[in-house]
Amino acid sequence: MRTTFRNARIPVSGNETRTADLLVENGKIAAVLPADSEPHPTAADSIDLGGALVLPGVIDTHVHFDDPGFTHRENFATGTRAAAAGGVTCIVDMPCTSLPAVTSRANLRNKLDVISNKAHVDFMLWGGVSDNAMEDAAWRRNLADIVDDGVASIKIYMLSGMDTFRDLSRDQMREVLVETKQIGIPVGVHAEDREMVHELTDRFMSAGRNEPLDYAAARPPEAELSAVSTVRDLCRETGARVHVVHLGTGRALDVVVEAREEGLPMTAETCPHFLEFTTDDLRRMGALLKTAPVVKSVSDRARLWEGLASGEIAWVATDHAAGQWPEEKHTGSIWTDYGGVPGVELMLPYLYSEGVRSRRITLERLVEITAGAPARFLGIERTKGRLEPGYDADLVVLAEHETWTVRADDLHNLNRYTPLEGRALTGRVRAVYLRGSCVYRRNEDGSEFFAGPGTGRWVRRQSRLG
Ligand SMILES: [Zn+2]
Repeated sequence: MRTTFRNARIPVSGNETRTADLLVENGKIAAVLPADSEPHPTAADSIDLGGALVLPGVIDTHVHFDDPGFTHRENFATGTRAAAAGGVTCIVDMPCTSLPAVTSRANLRNKLDVISNKAHVDFMLWGGVSDNAMEDAAWRRNLADIVDDGVASIKIYMLSGMDTFRDLSRDQMREVLVETKQIGIPVGVHAEDREMVHELTDRFMSAGRNEPLDYAAARPPEAELSAVSTVRDLCRETGARVHVVHLGTGRALDVVVEAREEGLPMTAETCPHFLEFTTDDLRRMGALLKTAPVVKSVSDRARLWEGLASGEIAWVATDHAAGQWPEEKHTGSIWTDYGGVPGVELMLPYLYSEGVRSRRITLERLVEITAGAPARFLGIERTKGRLEPGYDADLVVLAEHETWTVRADDLHNLNRYTPLEGRALTGRVRAVYLRGSCVYRRNEDGSEFFAGPGTGRWVRRQSRLG
């Protein structure tokens, strides 16, 4: 099967683009030709993109699609449908928000059985190690098994709110990192200081405090700073490749930067909500914007954008986590309201609008933080993340000048709410191709096309760390 995508404007460097024809064969980019090359003699199909901006499909390394186990929040069909509409052609689902959690071969296979025929886009899976998993004397064997089977990376928590996936002590973390170093797989860490957060939470709750800002005060910047410093120390001690997920604090970013200067294998991601919102917004919006970790200050936000532009932050992921709306989000107490926001559908338009068009980051950097860097972390850098011959033809066609208004009702995930409600963004996803086939299109009349569930495939990690 051959298709030529004609007149695609693709990123070159900085904000520069060039117009090219992409020849796609059997789902892979076979050639990138100068625009208006003679039609390839055997090209069966030709799609004229009319000079539209075309980016590599986004890879979202951090989503919670909750399937199986928490499907009142999300499921794989709705989550990947939202991904397709947002230009995300590969998602990486977290191991903790499944029942059973992805901590053993049997659990991994159970999950694959449940989700595989639901996916609208390609997917990878995180494996995990929890305190629960470590109660099994065979936890090391289980870890090695799921890595052999192809999980993308290993997730651990220093502070978890889940009984089914409990957090690890410093000693447990060390044990896990020694093991992952040996196996050659990276570890993603939820880094907040559990003692500090538990103590503040208990104190505020028993004092009857119940405002959004009380929740923020119970998860202060110091909790992230302390935990990220611990991650750094254990990285130094074990040599394990570590990655801080959903980092929101400027001073914690400084620790990551210093670690890298020291030569330690440590990176960090941030999320759109940390780039956009601060505690002022939390005070105003309440539970709608409740996340864990929580949004931080104006200066933290500025530091994150700076780090994103400079390369100090490796990439952006959504931490898509949608609670049941409205029941779980409005329980009557900020302490029990669900912590998490949907994000997978809005990340690319948000980063394009507020990053590239607002001149905070270049187009080249946008591609790196949404595709290139995630692909390298996940060990799929030879097949995804670039518009070059040999790569999967995962393409996003962006209507770069279209200004539109975010409406929760227009989202495609299961529980539709967003702190971005009412925001005008410039740049909108028009069409998305997965391995050369259209999985999403927004038509002129506003109607939408989706390819069926089961279009997406499981992608295994393709390489180990040295
Ligand atoms: Zn998460």
